[in-house]
Amino acid sequence: MDPSETLASRRDRAFHLHPSSNLAALRTEGPLVIVRGDGVHVIDEAGNRYLEGMAGLWCAGLGFSERRLAEAAYRQMLELPFYHAFSNKVAAVSAELAERIVGVAPAGLSRVFFANSGSEANDSAVKLAWYLSNAVGRPEKKKIISRRRAYHGVTVASGSLTGLPFAHGDWDLPAPRFLHTETPHHWRYAKPGESEEAYAERLAAELERLILAEGPDTVAAFFAEPVMGAGGVIVPPATYFERVQRVLTKYEVLMVADEVICGFGRTGQMFGSQTFGIRPDVLTCAKMMTSGYVPMSAMLVGDGIYRTLEQQSEKLGVFGHGFTYSGHPVAAAVGLETLRIYEERDLLAHVRRVAPVLQEGLRALADHPLVGEARGIGLIGAWELAKDRDRRESFDPKAGVGAQVVKNAQKRGAIVRVLPGDIIAFSPPLIIEAHELRELLARAEAALDETWEWVR
Ligand code: PLP
Repeated sequence: MDPSETLASRRDRAFHLHPSSNLAALRTEGPLVIVRGDGVHVIDEAGNRYLEGMAGLWCAGLGFSERRLAEAAYRQMLELPFYHAFSNKVAAVSAELAERIVGVAPAGLSRVFFANSGSEANDSAVKLAWYLSNAVGRPEKKKIISRRRAYHGVTVASGSLTGLPFAHGDWDLPAPRFLHTETPHHWRYAKPGESEEAYAERLAAELERLILAEGPDTVAAFFAEPVMGAGGVIVPPATYFERVQRVLTKYEVLMVADEVICGFGRTGQMFGSQTFGIRPDVLTCAKMMTSGYVPMSAMLVGDGIYRTLEQQSEKLGVFGHGFTYSGHPVAAAVGLETLRIYEERDLLAHVRRVAPVLQEGLRALADHPLVGEARGIGLIGAWELAKDRDRRESFDPKAGVGAQVVKNAQKRGAIVRVLPGDIIAFSPPLIIEAHELRELLARAEAALDETWEWVR
């Protein structure tokens, strides 16, 4: 045993089963134990400060020390620490948050169902699609299409929507009735000389081919993140969603926008749907809704869907779906305060103001010998590493080149994340200032340089 190992690290290695971690590496290397937050920084047990370039898991929009959120939670705990929304009851604060969310949501979305995580919100949307098909007398219309490399969560349904091998493999997923179509990544998958528009048209045609092959009467919904996050920070090619939506409308397939990452300002507008002209029938969101300070997610639907649900309740006596903590008052109070702060500080304008620092900074290194593509929008971006940029050849995943960049960045006090395919992701708190972004980029660049020395 390493005598310098801390108590927290020992406890963690002995008793904690980590989510989404390499458990074997954890045993030998131990965890990074974080004890405090300060603005866009987090601080470890030894007092080292890290510029948190991922806002944790794409969620701490207001950074790691917003007292107003702590105070809102405390006040609500004293006032009404728990109430539920089953059996036609509600905590006043949950109803207020629902109104507030509808006020900023894309046009046509008018009702909010609350859950606790992105996975739960997406599970709810899958179940909703099935339930609606039954309600309108089309019980065969149940298949769900998402995209390869999508990330929609890890529960049975949301893990089936996810299009990444680590979520399937030995987990016996995807479940039946889940299908995956192409990843809309122009740099990696477009044909030589193919424009973004032509590529988008090909993807829409591919989606249509899949729907026709399965039978349009069997396909209920299509799920998509406006910008694919954990699958690699993939910004769709120009006109993609417009063309895809045309296909979905033609075959009466619901468009579900998974805004768990994009929602609440990440792309420079309140929702990614607004940035990319998506008109979702259903929208799911989480993370920055509460700045990640307490768990909360939501699923939004429009009047048409809500009327059908009401009619079903007349028939069946109940809308038979919900969670103990749906609309939890403490989470709702934090959500309300988060949205107030976003508005008071005009955070969307701030994101649009500082985004060019991130985007231009990433692209300034597009010709670094390790970088295949630099990409992003708003305050989300990535470097996709490549062994050979022109041939779009990746490194052997076993070489762990991306992981090395992350490690080298961490040494320099910057937290970034490696995604499958040696993609280095950036998704800092929305409150980040231009000089902090420059610092983050400088440390990441130094990490790239050190990794290049190690690779060549
Ligand atoms: N959808 C997207 C786009 C996500 O990025 C995530 C998580 O990162 C999820 C869904 C799942 O959310 P959760 O981890 O809260 O279940």
